[in-house]
Amino acid sequence: MNRQAPNSLEERLHVLQTHWDNYVAQGQFNEFIEFAVAVNSLAEYFNVLRLSGLVRLCEGLENAVLAKLGDQTSHPIAQQDVLSLQRQIDTLLGSIAHSRTQNVDQRTPEPSAIADEIDWIKPRSVWIVSAAAKRAVADAISSQLRFFGFDIHELCWNETPLPDSTALAVLFIPADDRIQPEELTRIADIRACCPASQLLYLGAQSAIEPIVSLMRAGIDVTVPAEGQTANVLNGILDLVKINEQEKYRVLIVEDSRVAVALIERTLAQHDMDTRAINDPGNLLEMLESYHPDLVLMDMYMPRFNGIEATRVIRQMPAYSSLPIVYLSAESDVGMQVEALRLGGDQFIIKPFNPVLLAAIIKAKIERFREAQRASRLDGLTGLLNHSTAKQRLRALLGQTPPHGQLTVAMIDIDHFKAINDTYGHPIGDQVIRRLAWLLKGRLRSHDMIGRYGGEEFIVALPGISPEQATAVIDRIRSDFCALPHPHPGGVLRTSFSAGVASFPLARTAATLTEAADAAMLQAKRLGRNRVEQARPPHTD
Ligand code: GH3
Ligand code: MG
Ligand code: MG
Ligand code: MG
Repeated sequence: MNRQAPNSLEERLHVLQTHWDNYVAQGQFNEFIEFAVAVNSLAEYFNVLRLSGLVRLCEGLENAVLAKLGDQTSHPIAQQDVLSLQRQIDTLLGSIAHSRTQNVDQRTPEPSAIADEIDWIKPRSVWIVSAAAKRAVADAISSQLRFFGFDIHELCWNETPLPDSTALAVLFIPADDRIQPEELTRIADIRACCPASQLLYLGAQSAIEPIVSLMRAGIDVTVPAEGQTANVLNGILDLVKINEQEKYRVLIVEDSRVAVALIERTLAQHDMDTRAINDPGNLLEMLESYHPDLVLMDMYMPRFNGIEATRVIRQMPAYSSLPIVYLSAESDVGMQVEALRLGGDQFIIKPFNPVLLAAIIKAKIERFREAQRASRLDGLTGLLNHSTAKQRLRALLGQTPPHGQLTVAMIDIDHFKAINDTYGHPIGDQVIRRLAWLLKGRLRSHDMIGRYGGEEFIVALPGISPEQATAVIDRIRSDFCALPHPHPGGVLRTSFSAGVASFPLARTAATLTEAADAAMLQAKRLGRNRVEQARPPHTD
């Protein structure tokens, strides 16, 4: 049976608990596999949210589970192994409960009514633990972060009572680059009480020994001293950059319905999107319309076999690097080698181990996406580039139901040429990046944000009315015009103008963009630093 994948944290924990309870009661191998998959999927969930401490705990549990996976004959596992896994589960659940209660209390009212679960679970507070000698650096970083909407708690290295909250990130700034033993103890203490936080250390030497000892104490990221504020800001703002998390898309080419159901269920557990075709005859249309990140290819099908289908894919320049994984009961090694030689990337034998299948697919897709990033993203801001943004907008419109809503905003920095002329191009670049950060930090994970041109951005907000969008963009506008941008002689301030247009008022990507652009120009004419809504075509 095809079962829905769990979505919320609540459901995931429920699935995990149920499989574990069943396993403990009945000792069945199948339940143990399901439990392993549930632990892995929970690790991925926290990974997407970049809750690194919880990811570590999940991965620790996952390793312990995989070590006991074995085969049918090794189950039920010994009572002492059950108890030891139970302890790890309890620790994990305790840490999750701890970070959740903290975050519920910490929850700050969102500027818009569009907060989703990610905003709910994701703390926005940052602790800065600094040496007295580095107070000025700490103050500079915290004043910057406050502008991007973070709550900052500044602490001394030896200050014991921690504020009762869970931080998105903890930044450690030591007096100098000689690490003291008591600093490591302090880091380990904070790691223990903030399992969900990202721990950053500013000013580490670029040598393996000190970095390893910091990592052992619990630091996730070390930033070299010369990197200073820009890198730290980047690191912390990247934690809220969740716009890239488009689901992984897997195309399954397989004639057996049972196999498809099994694969789809396994991949759904890992939050991947799947499409299945039972005949490679319409493979090319599917590649074109679905844009998979990976093809899972059966070996034997009627009409064409998997090797033939793979050779056809490999002849098309657009798909020359698309990962193709064979999934087959073929046990002839010669045949497997031939399949790889003719363009496949990996061979998985049926019946497959679901944990392994998901892990292989995930690893292949991660590398594929990484290789594609450069061509899809804008180098300066990390946002979608012009052509990818247009493509994404068309895709989002395609997913919008006839009575649904989708709002597009065009945002253009005011008198930007003057900033370049007065302060130089690098300062101009910095202003562009900071607007990009602000947008990433304020919009939802599934909103689209692109750099449309030099100092012009495009944003698409699914399910949002023009009025709601205007309120959201206007709030970002008012924060942006208050944001001080440092330059060698002090700080400068600037603003943007924006235009908003919505589906179904305009129905195509081109007309929506045009209407939003016209509204943006109207905002410029009306004096800049404002947001205008597109007027319906039938009114004057
Ligand atoms: P308006 O308020 O009407 O938008 O005025 P403006 O000066 O912002 O608009 P204009 O289109 O005249 O100038 C945009 C400038 O942006 C011109 C170009 O040199 C600069 N620019 C474009 N891309 C980049 C970039 O990547 N970095 C920097 N620093 N400047 C850029
Ligand atoms: Mg087959
Ligand atoms: Mg401009
Ligand atoms: Mg412009």
